[in-house]
Amino acid sequence: MSFVKRKVDKTPIEDTVFAIVKKAKEDKERVGAENVVDATIGSLYNEEGSIVAFDSVFTPYNQIAKETKAAYASSFVGNESFRKQVYEWVVGNRSALAHSVIATPGGTGAVALSVQEILDEGETLVIPEIAWGSYRLMAAMNNVEVATYSLFEDDHFNMKSFKEVCEKVMQKQKKLLVVINDPCHNPTGYSLSMEEWKEIVAFLNSCAKHGEVVLLNDIAYIDYSYDLEHCRDYISCFDAFDEKVMCVIAFSCSKSLTSYGLRCGAAILMAKTQQLVRDVEIVFEKAARATWSNIPNAAMDNFTQVTTTNVEAYIKEKAKYIALLKERSDIFMKEAKECGLACYPYKEGFFVTVAMDNETRDCYHEALMKEHIFTVKVNKGIRVAVCSLSVTAIKGLAKRMKEILDTL
Ligand code: PLP
Repeated sequence: MSFVKRKVDKTPIEDTVFAIVKKAKEDKERVGAENVVDATIGSLYNEEGSIVAFDSVFTPYNQIAKETKAAYASSFVGNESFRKQVYEWVVGNRSALAHSVIATPGGTGAVALSVQEILDEGETLVIPEIAWGSYRLMAAMNNVEVATYSLFEDDHFNMKSFKEVCEKVMQKQKKLLVVINDPCHNPTGYSLSMEEWKEIVAFLNSCAKHGEVVLLNDIAYIDYSYDLEHCRDYISCFDAFDEKVMCVIAFSCSKSLTSYGLRCGAAILMAKTQQLVRDVEIVFEKAARATWSNIPNAAMDNFTQVTTTNVEAYIKEKAKYIALLKERSDIFMKEAKECGLACYPYKEGFFVTVAMDNETRDCYHEALMKEHIFTVKVNKGIRVAVCSLSVTAIKGLAKRMKEILDTL
């Protein structure tokens, strides 16, 4: 007997992150925190081991009137000032496409809305082979199938696999929803080049000869790019999209503002005409209303304030942590190269992933824990969260990891 709907997968979530976080915590209590490397936590942590909560974000947040915090948002698609500012912050003057913005609970809300409202049951969502686990879960909860493209060929994006998988799905369902998590891909830290993006845009246009194409560009980590000045440039390529191609950019305040718990983000819809955008906006608005109703008013106002009147302090504070992230990842990647620990091509972002097949990964993950090194298993690899490891903890880590790998 079961009380839940019939067409739902009832196997519990295999919680690959929180279960290991708990093990790491227990190990710290047993042997002392200084003897444990906890590379599991996917939020930005400082060198002292605490979560970073930007002053430039939370000082203004704490000054927001309680009445503003108490009130509903002014619309189901988000406050007008927020919607405008999200577009300005992410796209600005890089595109002439018709557009709209819908406030969502984090990037999760934007991705989930897209999967739920763009595909019908039984259709297929295309995602990277190594990816944030929630994509698959979202597909499953909507009775949507998943097809994966291989991410890399040597040290660059596997365009061949991307095209093959998209074409196959297109042939089958005459419609395509494809996820690209770029820049700062979770968990490998890869970012596409401008040339790669141009090729993707041209290819999606060719797919559109056979049906509608939606590119879901998940930019959760964009504000930690090591090249902030140019990391949004690729968006200008989207102007070359055909009428039958739309882009949904999933934006998240969680990482950008270190405000994971405030649950604020947005879906930016972009297409050739306002009518095409409006068509999707209507459905997204209804789905939003039917699911979470509206987004925390104060979180939206906070984003607007931080990225306008407080922007200088915010950029300055964030720059310090981007430099720290770079320092940490540089050490890990340099040492990994020196000792021959194979990693996927990392360019920027919160995570580095050590490359291996899944069988090796499972034994290796256990072996690492025995040596008090806690990491997260991902498809075909082991994720090391450089976002939360101190420089001291990172120094020598790649070598230790390689030595443990060699004992298997
Ligand atoms: N996309 C990716 C790749 C992520 O890693 C995450 C969070 O871990 C998200 C989206 C969404 O995060 P949030 O819902 O907190 O904005």
